[in-house]
Amino acid sequence: MNQRNTLKINDRGHLEIGGCDAVELAERFGTPLYVFDEAYIRLMMRTYKKALNDCFGGNGIVLYASKAFSCKAVYKIAASEGIGVDVVSGGELYTALSSGFPADKIYMHGNNKTPEELEYAVSEGVGTIVVDSYLEADRLDALCAEKGVKQSVLIRINPGVEAHTHAYVQTATPDSKFGFSIANGTADDITNYVLSKGNLSLKGFHCHIGSQIFEKQSFVLAAEKMMAFIAHIKNSVGFEAETLNIGGGFGIYYTDEDPKLNENDYAQYLKALCDAIKQKSVELGVKAPFIALEPGRSIVGEAGVTLYTAGAIKSIPGLKTYIAVDGGMFDNPRYALYQSKYTVVAAGDMNAPCTQKVTIAGKCCESGDIIAVDVPLPEIKSGDIIAVLSTGAYNYSMASNYNRNFIPQAVLVNDGKADTIIKKQTYEDIVRNDVIPERLG
Ligand SMILES: *Cc1c(COP(=O)(O)O)cnc(C)c1O
Repeated sequence: MNQRNTLKINDRGHLEIGGCDAVELAERFGTPLYVFDEAYIRLMMRTYKKALNDCFGGNGIVLYASKAFSCKAVYKIAASEGIGVDVVSGGELYTALSSGFPADKIYMHGNNKTPEELEYAVSEGVGTIVVDSYLEADRLDALCAEKGVKQSVLIRINPGVEAHTHAYVQTATPDSKFGFSIANGTADDITNYVLSKGNLSLKGFHCHIGSQIFEKQSFVLAAEKMMAFIAHIKNSVGFEAETLNIGGGFGIYYTDEDPKLNENDYAQYLKALCDAIKQKSVELGVKAPFIALEPGRSIVGEAGVTLYTAGAIKSIPGLKTYIAVDGGMFDNPRYALYQSKYTVVAAGDMNAPCTQKVTIAGKCCESGDIIAVDVPLPEIKSGDIIAVLSTGAYNYSMASNYNRNFIPQAVLVNDGKADTIIKKQTYEDIVRNDVIPERLG
């Protein structure tokens, strides 16, 4: 069913993920439930690692962009696959470090890292910090002076490539809050500024053009512009970048509107990037840089399935049928944010013909609390298990306690085994940080 064959229909006609029957998982762990397929995650990490080795002779590093799904177990998996990670906050950094992830293989991003986050990153020996403002260059330089360390940094550059994706996940438009633009010269200015900072060791440049992108050409164009920038900086100020970090953003399959990519297709993205970078390096007379790559969504997205139990079913004659589930925007805010589309299936009756189009609604007090609109499904009764596919990326990581609902638990499945990786919240967790001031009695 998916491209890595980790989703199947078993002989009971149930959805199976990582060798586990989805209906049994729902019974055993309760719903809503995030299910993550370990084999899939590992396979994608290996795919990128192998492609990087094949294309760049190992002169590079795969960084799992952990904002897509951050928890201790996923950092353990990344560490065991020998790849690095990106973090974008103190919280992600803490999670990675507390799983034992090696600090030197962590890259830290963020357009407005707080002084506390910078202090934390430097104290823990985070390998590379990607600088994205003058303020940050100042703060980081002062901090390093105080601690007597020299910090490796990259600078986030905006190559000005508009990728074909949702506006909220485009990150290299001329008016983006991210990076410094090559086109308007601010990229030159920040480079000179960082080079003037005695406690910062500039290794090179970073760009990330957006997310859920399928056009090879967008990635190639970004890489070419970055190579041209590297050559320009070499020629104008004599600084030759060692590292080029080309970000993430590779798309995944959500519905039939998206292409279905196999491992080889992802490897082809890297091949195209590699060819462009090699060609530019010869053409422009700069050395081939160490390449960093930051896939997030494509590593965990299709590895994840969310299981819900159908509750209230409401037909509005002539308009819509709603099936309300025991989850909603608190475990998956992506429809509310981007009108994202999903494939929805009846986990307990996979072979039944789809006879209706229904809207899957959540249980929050918000009309926009929708998981999927007008999706084909067979007849569904209250109590049936509904599975939403490709929910591994930016679901749990964007979840909230809205309406004081529980953020669901997550299990990791592999070869018929299922283990909890994020526990169920309890009512106690919900009020854990609440304080009643004495004057309220
Ligand atoms: C979000 C992000 C990524 C990962 O993007 P995906 O679309 O999940 O692959 C990589 N790098 C940076 C800087 C990001 O912000």
